[in-house]
Amino acid sequence: MNLSAKDVWESVLGELQLQINANNFNTWLKPTRGISCDNNIFTIGVPNSFVGEWLEKRWMSLIKKTLVSMIGYHIDVKIQVGFDSTGSPEKVRISSEKPVEPVETASPPLLSRYTFDNFIVCDTNRLAHAAAVGVANGPGKSYNPLFLYSGSGLGKTHLLQAIGHAAWTAGHSVLYSNGEQFTNEFVNSIRNRTIEDFRSKYRSPDILLMDDVQFISGKEQTQESFFYTFNDLYNSSRQMVISCDQPPNRLPLLVDRLRSRFEWGIIVDISPPDYESRLAILREKSEKQNLNLTAETLDTIARSPISNVRILEGCLNKLAAHTRLYNEAPSHDVVMKAIEDTCGANPGKRLSPDRVLEIVSNHYGCSKQVILRNDKRDRQTTFLKHIVIYLIRENCSISFANIGEFLGYKDRTSVLYGYGKVAKALKNDEALKQSLDKINQDLHK
Ligand code: ADP
Ligand code: MG
Repeated sequence: MNLSAKDVWESVLGELQLQINANNFNTWLKPTRGISCDNNIFTIGVPNSFVGEWLEKRWMSLIKKTLVSMIGYHIDVKIQVGFDSTGSPEKVRISSEKPVEPVETASPPLLSRYTFDNFIVCDTNRLAHAAAVGVANGPGKSYNPLFLYSGSGLGKTHLLQAIGHAAWTAGHSVLYSNGEQFTNEFVNSIRNRTIEDFRSKYRSPDILLMDDVQFISGKEQTQESFFYTFNDLYNSSRQMVISCDQPPNRLPLLVDRLRSRFEWGIIVDISPPDYESRLAILREKSEKQNLNLTAETLDTIARSPISNVRILEGCLNKLAAHTRLYNEAPSHDVVMKAIEDTCGANPGKRLSPDRVLEIVSNHYGCSKQVILRNDKRDRQTTFLKHIVIYLIRENCSISFANIGEFLGYKDRTSVLYGYGKVAKALKNDEALKQSLDKINQDLHK
C-alpha cells in the first residue's frame, strides 16, 4: 500500500499526540508536516530552525520509533526548515509483508507515585536525591552514569523512576528496565533471532534507567551485551542511571571493563535512615496520606530498629488500618506488635539464637551462662548481651519478644534498646564493626 508522506505523517502525529504531553506536542510537533519519502529517507518540514533543533535533540528517537512502527520497515528521518516539497516522489510504501515489531513508544511503565514530589529528602539520601535531580534536569550533561547503590527498600527504584517521570515530562525518551528484564530480553532475542530489535530498544532512549544491575553479575554474555549498550549510549551522550545493591568495586563476578565504566560517572549511596530521618519520613507519609497517627506512635516506630523504608511503610499502613478499623489510636502494645510483625518480614535468616550466643561467647571468651545471667549486670556483660541481641536479630528469623525470652528479659523494650545501642555504636566504632564482621564470618562459615 502506498500513502502520501503527508498522510503518513498525520498518522504519526496522531500517535505522538497520545504519548507526549499537550504542551510539548503543540509547541514542537503540531507545526510540522510530512514532506517526502525518498530513498528510505522521510523528510519532515518544520517552520523554523529552532523547532528543527528541538526535534533533532529531544524527539528524534521517539519520532523514528513511531514512524518505523507505523510503516513497518526501518527508515531514516531528515528535518528540513520550510515546507517546500523538493519534487521527489511523495508516496510512502507501507509494508504489509514483514511488519517491524511495534517498538515501545508509549510513556514508560513507571509507577505514578514514584515521583520527586513524593520522595522525602533526609540526611541519608540527600546526595542521591540531588544527583538524581541533576540528571533529570540535564541528562547526559553532568555525570554519566549516575550509579546509585544501597540495601533493599531505601528508595533506589523510587529515585530512578522519579528521574524517568521528570525527564519524560521534559520531552526525553526514557527506558526503565532492570537487570533481570535486560537478561531475559537478551536471552530471548538470541533465541528468537530478534537481536536487532533488542539492540535498538536499549540503544535509542535518551535516558536508560537500569535498576538492580547486580542481576547481570556472573552472566558473561549478558554483561558483554550491556557493555556494548553502555558504550553506544555513552558515546552519543545519552544518560544512564544504574542502581545496584553494592558499589561497583564490591560487585562480585562483574567483568572489569564494565566495573570501570560504572565508575566513570558518579557513585552515590543511600544509607539506612537514622532515627531523625525515619521520623521525618514517617511524619511526612502519615501527613500526606492522612493516616491520623499520633506523634507518639510515629516516634515509637522511628525508635524501632526498622531501617528499611518499605518495611516502615508496611508498619505505618498496618497501624493506619488499625486506626480506621477501631476508630482509635493504637495502644503502645499494638504499635510494638506491628513493629515486630513487620520486622519479622526480613527473609533469609535461619541461624539459631543458641548458635549466635555460642559464637559470641567464644569470641569474647565469656561463658554462655555469664552472658545469660540477669542478676549481675556489669557493663561488660550487658554490652555482650546487646551484641547477642543485635546478632540474633540480624541473623535469625525471630521476634524481639522471643529474643527477650531467650535472654531472660521480662519485656521487649530492653531488647529493642539493646539492639538500637549496637546499631548506633556500629556507625562510629570501627573496632566494634571489625569484631562483629569477624563474628559474622564465623556464623556463616
Ligand atoms: P529499593 O529500590 O532501594 O529497594 P524502593 O525505591 O522500592 O527501594 O523503596 C521502597 C519503598 O519505600 C517505596 O514504596 C518507596 O516509595 C519508599 N521510599 C523509599 N525511600 C523513600 C523516601 N526517601 N521518601 C519516600 N518514600 C520512600
Ligand atoms: Mg528497587
